[in-house]
Amino acid sequence: MPIASAHPSQKPAASLEPSGSACGIPLQLQQVTKSYRSGRFCLDNVNFQLQAGAFALLTGPSGAGKSTLLKLFYGAEHPDRGQVLVQGQYINRLRGRALAYLRRQVGVIFQDYKLLERRTVAENVGFVLAARGLAWSEIQRRVPAALSLVGLADRGNCFPDALSGGEQQRVSIARAIVGQPRILLADEPTGNLDRQNALQVLKILQQLNKKGLTVLMTTHDPHLVEIAQAPVWQIQAGRLDPVTPAQPEAAQ
Ligand code: ADP
Repeated sequence: MPIASAHPSQKPAASLEPSGSACGIPLQLQQVTKSYRSGRFCLDNVNFQLQAGAFALLTGPSGAGKSTLLKLFYGAEHPDRGQVLVQGQYINRLRGRALAYLRRQVGVIFQDYKLLERRTVAENVGFVLAARGLAWSEIQRRVPAALSLVGLADRGNCFPDALSGGEQQRVSIARAIVGQPRILLADEPTGNLDRQNALQVLKILQQLNKKGLTVLMTTHDPHLVEIAQAPVWQIQAGRLDPVTPAQPEAAQ
């Protein structure tokens, strides 16, 4: 079974009931159209689904709608038409605690890290847990574990400005996973990094995927696309299509 699929031309689904079980298809778009008031069309009647445990890349030119697609999945944007399902639930129909609970299952990483400059690394990572009301002892247990996973076990007391860009991005990964989400959305996580740090971030995301997280990452870096060896989807002119890998030329 393919781990991801998009069928821009498929017929409308007969039912509007969720077609993906909570654990089987964590990310799904059903006939989603999204544009902005500026007139920019990002998605035009797009169907997409990503299987649990998949690692997929989303590429496309700047302004094509990569960030918008991720925003639909973490609830920061709403579709004009169609349905967005996360963990088998219609995210745009949820409110209050149900929405908050679903959002906890989605970790998000941004290109610009979005760290709190006046908080230490450990505080940045633990902040979200404190906001959720977790016990101090639990925060004390989880934060070092998350920092360890990104290779920053010894940097918890540093402030972000004492870290390199690559390290700051790794802190933001730790922050995204400390709440133990099932899904990781990474929006151009390597966009501000040099090649070496970009590869390190990719490797960490792949390791997290091996631990069971479903990962959808946007990038416009062809080198990264090439070495990631993951299914790639391209968004362009409102369409979302799988990219077929180039076939090696037959030996003469
Ligand atoms: P990408 O991530 O592929 O660079 P985006 O999803 O950020 O693309 O943006 C897609 C298009 O939608 C761009 O033309 C952008 O200017 C426009 N856009 C994004 N967000 C908004 C917004 N909040 N209001 C109006 N236009 C927006």
